Amino acid sequence: MGESNTISVCGTQCSTCYCFGELCQGCNACEGKVFHVPDGKTCAIYECTVHTKKFANCGACEAAPCEIWLRTRDPKFSDEEFEKNIRERMAMLKKEASADA
Ligand code: SF4
Ligand code: SF4
Repeated sequence: MGESNTISVCGTQCSTCYCFGELCQGCNACEGKVFHVPDGKTCAIYECTVHTKKFANCGACEAAPCEIWLRTRDPKFSDEEFEKNIRERMAMLKKEASADA
């Protein structure tokens, strides 16, 4: 499984994020109730992937990157940065899937 405990459901490598640590241990640790989702709600990606589809992460889903990914885009990203972010997350999920195989 390697680094999987810090790879999020949507393919983000949490340990490289500035929020990782005291502020956030990643959505695997808090079951999708991450600090940036208001009112103690669950992240929409986490909800769909883990609760509805019962996948460990979006890498198991043929729809990825789906419209929920687009909807939960971090507003700080430019179009170009967001496209790059999606490519990196898809690559991370693919790598994770091959490590588990
Ligand atoms: S967007 Fe959702 S699934 Fe992705 S890292 Fe954040 S909490 Fe996890
Ligand atoms: S539809 Fe698929 S890719 Fe989108 S959040 Fe759900 S499991 Fe992940």
